[in-house]
Amino acid sequence: MSFSNDVKNELSRIETNDACCDKAELLGLLRMSGAIIIRGSNVGIHFSTENAALARRVLQLLKSNYQVQTEVVITRSRRLKKNNRYQVRVIPAPQVSKALTELQLLSVESDLKNPLLNNHCCKRTFLRGAFLGGGSISRPSSDYHLEMVTGNEDFAHSIIKVMHSFSLKAKLTDRKNDFIVYLKDGESITKFLSVIGAHNSMMDFENVRIVKEMRNNVNRVVNCETANLNKVVRAAVRQINCIKYIDQHMGLNQLPQALQDTARLRLEYPDASLNELVEYSGGIGKSGINHRLKKLQEMAVGLGMEMEKD
Ligand SMILES: [Zn+2]
Repeated sequence: MSFSNDVKNELSRIETNDACCDKAELLGLLRMSGAIIIRGSNVGIHFSTENAALARRVLQLLKSNYQVQTEVVITRSRRLKKNNRYQVRVIPAPQVSKALTELQLLSVESDLKNPLLNNHCCKRTFLRGAFLGGGSISRPSSDYHLEMVTGNEDFAHSIIKVMHSFSLKAKLTDRKNDFIVYLKDGESITKFLSVIGAHNSMMDFENVRIVKEMRNNVNRVVNCETANLNKVVRAAVRQINCIKYIDQHMGLNQLPQALQDTARLRLEYPDASLNELVEYSGGIGKSGINHRLKKLQEMAVGLGMEMEKD
């Protein structure tokens, strides 16, 4: 099963007990994927999903907050993946328009002006509803990605504003006729899951994320050490080539004693780093050794050696 479904199953089982929060969640859910049905002078609502737990939740939220008649229609998919679709229907009746009016689902005003979103607790459940209705999230083992897709641009902006009020760095993009609110970084996704109350999923996500980041850090350190090592090895190889060149074209014996000593030390310890050479030299400082090795390179070049740049 997908991680999105795990999250939605968890969210669908959260106990509801505050009418204010329930209504804000319904607002998010219905705005995201509900449809308003007109029958004569009455209106009804259709909400359809492949997730049975979510269908039950929508039904429960509707029934416990409004005096409405409902039915659930299950359609079996003829396609191979065989997911049933559950359609929760609110039968058109006068009470339904009362519910829709309170939720301000018929209003053209932005949801941000809806008194149902005044409370912090209700902002959380509004986001939960939006995610349940049209959200998806990638498994943390792949790229970090969470999105909510809606055809309603104004609603997308409302979701983003509400997310910003939780310091979530949500962004908006559009694809054909859809507006996509998304989060791309692991930390924000963890926080979002916590805001909407998906605590178990958040822990699962976080566990994978921690292991992944640790592995990345280890790789980074190893790469860095390898790069340093390569640099040390390249420098040593170049120095040794220079010394051999001087020996062939002039003879090491012709060098001043100090340079001769350093040249022989380098040949004796071809793998040693500069610090190690300082140690083996018995009393010459790092800058002294460094200076002499540079001098040897200059001499080799002076004698006609061609040097690669690195
Ligand atoms: Zn509330």
